[in-house]
Amino acid sequence: MSRSKSHDIFARAKHLMPGGVNSPARAFGAVGGEPIVFERGEGAYLYDVDGNQYIDYIGSWGPMILGHLHPKVKEALHAAVDQGTSFGAPTERENKLAELIIEIIPSVQQVRLVNSGTEATMSAIRLARGFTGRDKIIKFAGNYHGHVDSLLVAAGSAAATLGVPNSPGVTAGTAKDTIVLPYNNADALQEAFERNKDQIAGVIFEPVVGNMGCVPPLPGYLQAIREICTNNGALMIMDEVMTGFRVAAGGAQELYGVTPDLTTLGKIVGGGLPIGAYGGRADIMGHILPAGEIFQAGTLSGNPLATATGIATLQTLKELNPYPELDKKTQTLEKGLLKAAQQANVGIVTARVGSMLTPFFHEGAVHNWDAAAQCDTKRYGKFFWELIERGVYFPCSQYEALFVSVAHTDDDIAKTIDAAQEAFLKIR
Ligand SMILES: *Cc1c(COP(=O)(O)O)cnc(C)c1O
Repeated sequence: MSRSKSHDIFARAKHLMPGGVNSPARAFGAVGGEPIVFERGEGAYLYDVDGNQYIDYIGSWGPMILGHLHPKVKEALHAAVDQGTSFGAPTERENKLAELIIEIIPSVQQVRLVNSGTEATMSAIRLARGFTGRDKIIKFAGNYHGHVDSLLVAAGSAAATLGVPNSPGVTAGTAKDTIVLPYNNADALQEAFERNKDQIAGVIFEPVVGNMGCVPPLPGYLQAIREICTNNGALMIMDEVMTGFRVAAGGAQELYGVTPDLTTLGKIVGGGLPIGAYGGRADIMGHILPAGEIFQAGTLSGNPLATATGIATLQTLKELNPYPELDKKTQTLEKGLLKAAQQANVGIVTARVGSMLTPFFHEGAVHNWDAAAQCDTKRYGKFFWELIERGVYFPCSQYEALFVSVAHTDDDIAKTIDAAQEAFLKIR
């Protein structure tokens, strides 16, 4: 497979942008080698600038649950473009997207649209602090909430991959108000609240972690977070930027039946254009300016193009209800990967919730960052490249979940399993 054009373009990019990219997760740092430069996507496939085709399991890191260029989304975007691209003023489309979010995500009574997942989490913790009058936030090791200063402590995703426990530029003053705890450990959470009585504004977490690979919550863990927050007057902030509209229509809160006070959304909610959102209890959301006194704003927030693709995506998901089908397809992939690894005598364990899946090069289940950190990431990197050579694009890090979309066919899944079979034999 030649990627000479990719190579040339990326060589130039390295002079123009730090590391040649606009976001570190896509730089292939965790698997070695150079990133692939893409030209277009259609359905379940990506095509690089050299004309190679790949079955895509990243889906722009989550948003493309309908696959690339879904006809409904494309049509909505074309129609919106013809009406103008940004007004910085109210539009009816914002109502429509807000209505869909409120209808679909169980705990959301009011919502504010922003431009990214990072903006959503940043705003939600400001709101939690403003609402409770407390400074401290609890987060969990290996959970990623975007590049918000105070949440960039023991973060997952590229921060985990690149081993940046605490980015330079995040001040000690900022980090000191962030308490980092191990995931899936309710006792540690209870103890932290006891040590910091009446100081904790909220607990932010991924209800199914996607940013240290897919790590589901242990039975009862989310309920325990709910109970401890309620008992201590702290807000439960469920970061569903990845899981919202993914693990179930109503996200992890619907799947596990747990009701947070605030929810952050991103990725799928924009259908491939930049949107984030945060929402929750109306009595809390009412504190946001101009209804209340807590400042949060955005020139392009509620952008007419992004709301158009968001609406089209959520509406199509509502019509299709693809979740049982996604679950089935991803389970087939999971079983196929396990069997192929076994046959090649390569030790992996898998973790999956719906269409989020990770093959961990690890012995025994992964419930937290300490376990995830033990993975054989070198071997994952080799596996990744063997798959690339066979036209399969898996996440370029052990610490990112892969996603199956509506567009993946049974044939795509079968081809992927065949490719994995060969790849495991190559790397054993
Ligand atoms: C991707 C992600 C974010 C950050 O969203 P951006 O749009 O990249 O800023 C926050 N939280 C979670 C759980 C995510 O997966």
